[in-house]
Amino acid sequence: MPGTIINVSNRLPITIEGDQIKKSSGGLVTALEAVSGGRYELKWIGWTGEGCADATRQRGLEERFTREFGFVPVFMTQAEQAGFYEGFSNSSIWPLLHYLPSYMRYDDAQWWHDYRNVNQRFADAVLRTAKDGDLVWVHDYQLMLVPAMLRAANPSLRTGFFLHTPFPSYEIFRCHPHRVDLIEGLLGADQIGFHTFGYARHFRSAVVRLLGIDAELMRIRRDGHTSHLGVYPIGINAAKFEEELNTQQHRAQCEHFRANFAHKRVVLSVERMDYTKGILRRLQAIDQFLAANADKHDEMKFIFISVPSRERVEEYQDLLSEVESQIGRLNGRYATINNSPIHFIHGTVTFTELCALYALAEVAMVTPLRDGMNLVAKEYVAAQRDGAGVLVLSEFAGAAEELFNAIVVNPYDAQGVAAYLREALEMPLEQRRERMRPMRDRVMKFDASWWATSFIDDLAALELVSSVAPDIDDAQRRVASAVADNSKRVVLFLDYDGTLREIVKDPGTATVTTEMRWLFDRLRRLENVDVTIISGRTPQDLDAFVGEFPFGLIAEHGAALCRPGSSDWEQLDRNVSYAWKEELLRVLQLYEASTPGSRVEEKRTSLVWHYRQADPEFGHQKAMDLAEELSTIAANDPVQIRHGRKIVEVTASHVNKGAAVARLLSERQYDLILAAGDDTTDESMFRLDLQNFITIRVGDGDTLARYRLPTPAALRAFLARSLP
Ligand code: UDP
Repeated sequence: MPGTIINVSNRLPITIEGDQIKKSSGGLVTALEAVSGGRYELKWIGWTGEGCADATRQRGLEERFTREFGFVPVFMTQAEQAGFYEGFSNSSIWPLLHYLPSYMRYDDAQWWHDYRNVNQRFADAVLRTAKDGDLVWVHDYQLMLVPAMLRAANPSLRTGFFLHTPFPSYEIFRCHPHRVDLIEGLLGADQIGFHTFGYARHFRSAVVRLLGIDAELMRIRRDGHTSHLGVYPIGINAAKFEEELNTQQHRAQCEHFRANFAHKRVVLSVERMDYTKGILRRLQAIDQFLAANADKHDEMKFIFISVPSRERVEEYQDLLSEVESQIGRLNGRYATINNSPIHFIHGTVTFTELCALYALAEVAMVTPLRDGMNLVAKEYVAAQRDGAGVLVLSEFAGAAEELFNAIVVNPYDAQGVAAYLREALEMPLEQRRERMRPMRDRVMKFDASWWATSFIDDLAALELVSSVAPDIDDAQRRVASAVADNSKRVVLFLDYDGTLREIVKDPGTATVTTEMRWLFDRLRRLENVDVTIISGRTPQDLDAFVGEFPFGLIAEHGAALCRPGSSDWEQLDRNVSYAWKEELLRVLQLYEASTPGSRVEEKRTSLVWHYRQADPEFGHQKAMDLAEELSTIAANDPVQIRHGRKIVEVTASHVNKGAAVARLLSERQYDLILAAGDDTTDESMFRLDLQNFITIRVGDGDTLARYRLPTPAALRAFLARSLP
């Protein structure tokens, strides 16, 4: 039986005109229909495009959308449209994603409220529609919170997200007041796709810096869930262009334009009227070009097709009047009696007209300041079947990564662009064809269906590791039944940081929370249950944090022991040599001095270099260097070197948690033993060969433990559920 793809995008591919609802044939529709091709059923969830608060109309539309197209409409009021779409999405996120913080506006808390509510409405529509095993594909910056909302409600859904815009450097993204919410929203997805590796790299860097977690290059693990990053450059509907080029209407349209533009050299620009498209900068370059090439004033025809866009947003209104006034100025300055150089159309053209213009234009100037991909560049290439045209392409468009045979320009350098335009116009035909051919091959092959198919195939093939081992409930039942049976003795060996307690930036503040106190109070009342907190911390820390509870305490990874009810600490490491400490301490101190934010901690049995407060990427690099340097210097010392969570630690080899646990167990018999930990130091406990032994790893990472729980909160819930 075929599976189902639930495609979620801001707009449904339809237009409503009075009573008429028409399905549009955008690139995304064709691409998704190509993927579905028998293997998947396609359901589409999206906004209708109109502000609608009338319940009767909503019900009517919903019924028609489902019946006629299999679409699930999402509605919003006009006020929500202003806050969610024009406000939060297009006035705050859009400019930042395109590196234009000066265009960013964020002055209304209502926008955030609307953005969250509308995202929740999309998520609810998915949850109502999706069945187990369906693939959910969420698109673009308007819906960044949806993946986390879906995960919170139904972790078994398989969710992909694709960002159609760039993802900027962290330094830009951090300007957004809701930067953390937006990142956390995306991390709900199992797979997050970008057009280029650069965007994925920036996203990873923003996550590492904003959330203080480590992440692999293309994989981010958090709270027991993994988001896989991927690079999927979107393509065009290549077949549609190929078909059009073979039609009689195309030939007729070309003839018509040729007659219109006889003896003119046509340079084409096509785009939405958007400040990211670099229209004003391009006009500056044209100004420079015309100023320097007076002999060309009679023959140049710069055609600007500017599709109206976001006309309710103030910045877009301002841009349009500025563009109109600059074009008026340039036409005034450079018009001759025979020609006016800039032909400006603020409107749309038909597909046939667009194709003919693409085919005829000698040069296409595609010079956005930033663009996620830019399909116009690819469409121009597709229409250039005879290869006589030249593409002048901004290096800041995602398309430049693939179309490197274009004349790639810096759109901020007006003089440079003017010079390259001249080069394009003078380029010999053979060279034009040599450049165009490989680009066209690429564009025709890696089209929109290829893009959608590769994204969906990767999403479907992901091996989603469940954050909870399937039989954790069995473990919980075993613990509960032993605890409830007073004739049985139970012991719990529990690591503290990252296991019982969430890790915090300042380790001195990781005191027992109210929720933990409640759990500990319940544990202390059970006569047949012994609890030992086992940690890498110092005896002083453990006394201060949990000394008030009648629990056994093991400090410094097993070097010191304080028995339940006692306040005296016993050293377990009397025969261990610490002669190595002095020399290695000096090495760690050098790293402390050269890595701002890092610090050295000296413990009785170990030396620790902490870098949680350092710049995450610099800290990580220095930690790798330090671990390598230590392994050379201390090759003959009785130590273990470990690169753990934001630390590099050198510990005496004979001291470990497993040895301390074994020692306590040799003194007393238990019917059930439970050990839980989150870090490599806890593995020495899990390695013990014991009967009736339940081992739990909290969080990610390779482990010998039999069971896994995603977070400290999940472990606390596990323990709480096991108590009478
Ligand atoms: N386009 C259109 N009508 C027009 C002119 C252009 O629909 O009158 C299309 C064009 O064919 C292209 C899209 O608009 O497919 C623009 O996509 P692009 O990736 O270049 O920019 P975006 O608008 O997504 O920022």
